[in-house]
Amino acid sequence: MKVTLIAHTPNPEQVVAAAAKLCYSDAELQTLLDGLDQQKSRDFVRKLASLGHESPTEHVSFTFGIEGVSRALLAQITRHRIASFSVQSQRYVRLNEFEFVTPEMVEQDQQSQEAFSEAMEQAGEQYRRIAAVLKDGHIRRLMKEGLDEKTATRQAEKMAIEDARFVLPNACTTKMMVTMNARSLNNFFRHRCCQRAQWEIRNLADEMLRLVYPIAPSLFENSGPGCVKGPCPEGAMSCGKVSQMREKYAALKKEAHSWEN
Ligand SMILES: Cc1cc2nc3c(=O)[nH]c(=O)nc-3n(C[C@H](O)[C@H](O)[C@H](O)COP(=O)(O)OP(=O)(O)OC[C@H]3O[C@@H](n4cnc5c(N)ncnc54)[C@H](O)[C@@H]3O)c2cc1C
Repeated sequence: MKVTLIAHTPNPEQVVAAAAKLCYSDAELQTLLDGLDQQKSRDFVRKLASLGHESPTEHVSFTFGIEGVSRALLAQITRHRIASFSVQSQRYVRLNEFEFVTPEMVEQDQQSQEAFSEAMEQAGEQYRRIAAVLKDGHIRRLMKEGLDEKTATRQAEKMAIEDARFVLPNACTTKMMVTMNARSLNNFFRHRCCQRAQWEIRNLADEMLRLVYPIAPSLFENSGPGCVKGPCPEGAMSCGKVSQMREKYAALKKEAHSWEN
């Protein structure tokens, strides 16, 4: 998995602090911005967080490049409706030799590993076979309908891989660009840094948190699973590791901050 922070709103803490101050002030917006240095912005964002006033954090967004993750992860991350996504298309990109993610537990078990490798090989083989057969049929039909060979071949390729992709597995890798505002990102961290979340998306969420924390520590101070800030929200499903989780996310933020500075 490769995760990159491609872009973010400049001066995110100042923007959030100004948006919030605006709600309670009759001063000109520029005057508010001028009065907000980094420390004052941070202090104000911290105060906001303690009050649960989250909407000003929607004014700043973060754009990530995410590569080498599974389609299983894609199904989960796209459930976050407030985010924006651009995802590599299996309709337009032929995946003759597709790459895939192997779960660690599969890798550690020889029998599972063998079955898994076999399944990937077979999926690839059947994908290529179906794509080839469909493509030939489409070319013949399209040429009969009057298209020249070059145009028929181009159209047939897309139609063929569009249907052949149905045999590709969840393990197949994909890449995407994702943009989330800070409020949505914090909701994502609450859900996906939790021990109950699936390992691949949890690793991704941790990596995203590592990348954004040094940019705007006050916005992400309490980020992580719900238990970082308060009691575990998972009830009977709790992993029972609140103190370990708090330690883990305190260490992750400390480490992320030291990389940046
Ligand atoms: C451990 C775990 C297990 C899961 N298991 C399943 C499962 O078995 N099956 C399954 O289908 N999903 C499952 N999910 C996905 C989960 O139900 C959410 O769809 C996903 O986490 C996105 O969260 P969200 O809706 O808060 O995010 P977003 O879609 O980004 O929404 C953010 C917030 O906006 C508000 N919001 C957004 N849309 C609406 C709306 N239409 N109406 C009202 N408020 C809205 C809500 O407050 C929401 O929390 C699981 C998630 C986790 C973390």
